[in-house]
Amino acid sequence: MAKSIAIDGPAGAGKSTIAKLVAKQLGFIYVNTGAMYRAMALFLIRNGIDKDDTPGIEKACELADISITHTDGKQVVLLMGENVNDHLRTEEVGNMASASSVNAKVREKLVALQQKLASHEDVVMDGRDIGTVVLPDSRCKIYLTASSDVRARRRYDELVAKGESADLDKIRADIEERDQRDMTRANSPLKQADDAVLIDSSNMSIEEVKDAIISVAKERL
Ligand code: C5P
Repeated sequence: MAKSIAIDGPAGAGKSTIAKLVAKQLGFIYVNTGAMYRAMALFLIRNGIDKDDTPGIEKACELADISITHTDGKQVVLLMGENVNDHLRTEEVGNMASASSVNAKVREKLVALQQKLASHEDVVMDGRDIGTVVLPDSRCKIYLTASSDVRARRRYDELVAKGESADLDKIRADIEERDQRDMTRANSPLKQADDAVLIDSSNMSIEEVKDAIISVAKERL
């Protein structure tokens, strides 16, 4: 059976950075499930479907063709056959992903895709519901978090390093709003699985978090 490491946690906890490093070290495939919710959101935006238009979103689930490939270890998200990786990281897409991911049909469609990927590959998969819903039988589950101050600061530094303008207070407020929505939604809310190991990265370096996860993986897999 394929092995898996399930990493859940709030926005900005460092999941994708760490998951990529862990996957590389172990020779597993990295699967970023947030990118799939973002691809679905991009489809909604491109087709002029509003975040509150539930029938429109459900119809879009039937029409949107989302698939995943890997090139040189990097995940490529295909939407209607187009590589959309460069279109997924905007605030507009992030906000639409956060709003539309509460829809049960959206989740059903993307969870099926995630489970299929994990059934035949060793994966490090990150998201909000991986340990609780997508891969409940995974033997290695991590709940990665950090304080909202630290997460906002990291996001701020990342934007500034890219030469973009950023407002620390606004970033913190957005992060807190997104956490609130992810943690309180009826469908697959963000929460730590009972058998997940909690890692708070607020005062840890990337290397330290990676090593902590590798040691849990060695013990459990
Ligand atoms: O992780 P990322 O910020 O790219 O995810 C975008 C949005 O998709 C999140 O705000 C969250 O609402 C949603 N998401 C989800 N379940 C996942 C991954 C992401 O609901 N497994």
